[in-house]
Amino acid sequence: MKILLLGGGGREHAFALKLAESPLCEALFTAPGNPGTASLGTNLDVNPNDFEAVADLVKAHGISMVVVGPEEPLVRGIYDYFKADDALKQVRIIGPSAKGAQLEGSKAFAKTFMQERDIPTAAYQAFTPETLQEGLAYLDAHPLPIVLKADGLAAGKGVLILHDREEAKAELEAMLNGKFGQASQRVVVEAFLDGIEFSVFVLTDGKSYKILPIAKDYKRIGEGDTGLNTGGMGAISPVPFVDEQLLKKVENWIISPTLTGLKEIGAPYQGFIFLGLIKVGDDPYVIEYNCRMGDPETEAVFPRLKSDLVALLKAVGDETLAEAELEVDPRSAATVFLVSGGYPEAYEKGKPITGIDRVEGSLVLHAGTREEGGVLKTNGGRVLAITSLAEDFRKALSISKANAEKISFEGKYYRADIGFDL
Ligand code: ATP
Repeated sequence: MKILLLGGGGREHAFALKLAESPLCEALFTAPGNPGTASLGTNLDVNPNDFEAVADLVKAHGISMVVVGPEEPLVRGIYDYFKADDALKQVRIIGPSAKGAQLEGSKAFAKTFMQERDIPTAAYQAFTPETLQEGLAYLDAHPLPIVLKADGLAAGKGVLILHDREEAKAELEAMLNGKFGQASQRVVVEAFLDGIEFSVFVLTDGKSYKILPIAKDYKRIGEGDTGLNTGGMGAISPVPFVDEQLLKKVENWIISPTLTGLKEIGAPYQGFIFLGLIKVGDDPYVIEYNCRMGDPETEAVFPRLKSDLVALLKAVGDETLAEAELEVDPRSAATVFLVSGGYPEAYEKGKPITGIDRVEGSLVLHAGTREEGGVLKTNGGRVLAITSLAEDFRKALSISKANAEKISFEGKYYRADIGFDL
């Protein structure tokens, strides 16, 4: 089978490794890809949001499966674009319809969806510019801290946790006045949940599902979870506090009603559901849905998958996932991200990277890198993810950190405390 993978980050390098190792993968193309995916197949310089160009690639290369890494093409409707075209509808698109992707594309949609099905999530109300006054009154009537969320996609920046009522009111007004453009034309105001977060990934063919290894990511730039939010500084898998009892609650209270709900609303969904969860007391609550795998969690989760990923995804496209086997490496994975100095604020690109050849016992996954005249250089905030496997995450982390020390580029920074709160 010829496969096209869309995206170009560390997540996609982790996908590419698993796809390329499958005997079912005849050829792997990645658009746009990165130097990591280039070592496993052919990179094609196409924007995943340009569906016409993606369709041309599919036709030109005889591709029968498209694996969508990032959320944007899904929220914009790549699945529906392919299904609406007689010449393309046979292609397996791994990812939901635009309607299913609304779980990530609109927080107000996701909250209503959960509320209607009693899926545990923070109490909330959504406001628009027309209902600003009600929003301000709502802020007066609810305890602090309080969470404001831009409804639409805001690249992880549209969520504010506020501890001061006047500041919360000013922010609500600013958001409804376009602080995050179109994305904050509607704002969800919700109660703050105090607990510990974790991520559950579900693969579904629309009929049945498999739960992939559980993970936990670390978003803040500073050790001890301090400082600004980033795309993710590291991850571990599995998560020691997620026991069978908690996972049963996740399945019964969250996964099953979510899949039933998607069927009820007539939203085709053949792909990954990423549940951003928080454990409050002994119970799980949904913080957010995403309609794709997480980054950096994929870099910790996929190296633990022993099953053939192409076989699993083929089963998703064929709606035979119930019969597929999911085999997981019992060892723990720890992923550490090397980032550019200054990230997530201003940083420089183009710094030569050395020492990858000295890495032993870890996977090095490319995220923000590029190759220029045979020299590997930094090309983004998050540069390389280093993943190791060992009998527990602390041992895995120490291997990742030892290898992090062997790689050099000007301004390199990483968090040495991934998993510190476990
Ligand atoms: P990202 O794209 O970075 O995953 P997002 O912009 O889609 O994030 P959320 O995941 O909903 O937004 O929120 C970002 C972070 O804010 C969460 O990971 C969590 O740490 C915190 N957060 C969001 N909602 C709540 C809540 N109700 N209570 C406590 N913390 C929250």
